[in-house]
Amino acid sequence: MIAASRRLICDISEEEKRRELKDIADVYGQNNFEEFMEDPKCSACGKPAEKRCSRCKLEWYCSRECQVAAWKDHKKLCDVMVAAQAEEAKSKAKENVEQTN
Ligand SMILES: [Zn+2]
Ligand SMILES: [Zn+2]
Repeated sequence: MIAASRRLICDISEEEKRRELKDIADVYGQNNFEEFMEDPKCSACGKPAEKRCSRCKLEWYCSRECQVAAWKDHKKLCDVMVAAQAEEAKSKAKENVEQTN
């Protein structure tokens, strides 16, 4: 998907290029933003967290124990977030294909 976007950028005007870059930033910005967050907190106990839910990558945990303890409550939200992310990636990929044609 990234490679397709790069190829697309070569064929479009400066203004479109900026818009495209912004779209890419929007898609990847959420993940990047989390990387730069100073001190993520464990969503189970509130302590500084180092581990992230490997599915949705939106929930932070200080330990495997907290992740397991919180999973029962998080599972529902996690499924929704993963589905939403997959849906967004799919529609983005589709958009890029349509723009290329
Ligand atoms: Zn914790
Ligand atoms: Zn999750």
